[in-house]
Amino acid sequence: MSTVFGLIIQGKLPAKKIFENERILAIEDIHPVAPVHILIIPKKEIPNLQSLGPEDAGLLSEVVAVAQQIAEEKGIEEGYRLLTNNGPDAGQTVFHLHFHLIGGRVLGKMA
Ligand code: AMP
Repeated sequence: MSTVFGLIIQGKLPAKKIFENERILAIEDIHPVAPVHILIIPKKEIPNLQSLGPEDAGLLSEVVAVAQQIAEEKGIEEGYRLLTNNGPDAGQTVFHLHFHLIGGRVLGKMA
């Protein structure tokens, strides 16, 4: 069963797209916590980081490359976070692997 991100990838729900290729979609988060808050979403239906297999190693490299490119385009390359919440205890709410690219203000220390 598809998550909200699966439906966005399938074009069944709208989203503000920032980047897309065959393997990755990046969209604006609907509840941004900073001036730049973009979700980088591998299109493959993987629930979270813990579910990644060795066959997905290239996907992670590509996520990082997309994050670097978007950070440059948004002018936040001097300071941003790229993070993923793995599991309910970490606050994961959508069980389709995604990475938050957050920046555009002083982020301070991690809690
Ligand atoms: P997480 O809590 O790490 O699973 O992150 C899920 C993120 O998805 C949250 O920051 C939500 O604001 C965001 N989100 C949920 N639904 C949508 C949507 N339809 N479009 C864009 N972002 C969404």
